[in-house]
Amino acid sequence: MIRPVFANTADYRTRQALILRGGTGRVSLPVRVGLIDHPTHGAVLIDGGCGPRLTKGPGRSLALRLYSWLLHPVIREDSSPMALLAAKGRTAADVQTILVTHFHADHISYLRDFPNARFVTDGPVRGGLRHGIFPALLPDDFAQRQIDLRSFPQAALPFGLGAGYDVFGDGTVLAVPLPGHAAGHYGLCFPGDDPLLYAVDVQWLLAGILQDRAPGFPASLLADDTTAAHESIALVRAFAQAGGTVVLCHDPAPTPFDWAPPDV
Ligand SMILES: [Zn+2]
Repeated sequence: MIRPVFANTADYRTRQALILRGGTGRVSLPVRVGLIDHPTHGAVLIDGGCGPRLTKGPGRSLALRLYSWLLHPVIREDSSPMALLAAKGRTAADVQTILVTHFHADHISYLRDFPNARFVTDGPVRGGLRHGIFPALLPDDFAQRQIDLRSFPQAALPFGLGAGYDVFGDGTVLAVPLPGHAAGHYGLCFPGDDPLLYAVDVQWLLAGILQDRAPGFPASLLADDTTAAHESIALVRAFAQAGGTVVLCHDPAPTPFDWAPPDV
């Protein structure tokens, strides 16, 4: 049975009302990246996190600078994918596979640091700057290294999630299309005694799913497809109600799968 471990690559501060209907006050949101230790595929990353290419460094496009200025994420370089890998005795060069759940900037900013990885996506890069997608963050040869998850064998998912795709052909990691938030957005199901669903950006907070408190306008403007987004939320809610464990990218509540760098 495989379970991921997550590092928090950055913090966003925002008003809770923007991300949770009826929310009050301000909240600090993490940006998780995941690491899977697979017996034959080795170190596998889930997403490329939020890194300094978003916030500093020469050659950033005006759009990227504007995005960074609007959201001003605080990058936690001591909790980068490379720091997480180092803590597990690996390097960026060891990573052969990265599961890219979608192309929003805060999920892809370290991808250029992985020269040997192939990128598993649900379809090609779609959308554009209006949807928070910045091609400059992708490796120049991204298209050549991209693999469509729909080329993997189909597999039944637990707790009513329907059918997914068996990423490694051994039933350990199953990709779950969860459209709506962004084009090609997908989650990852880890079956076993206590099935786990990493539902990524289906919502910001678990309460938005479990208590049906997904925010409306203006957050709805960010969705790629509002109808599909609501269907994906309902699917994840049913999974949780059936007893599954759900983890999201940006929910600040600690999970048993979170890793933190040692204090120095
Ligand atoms: Zn996103």
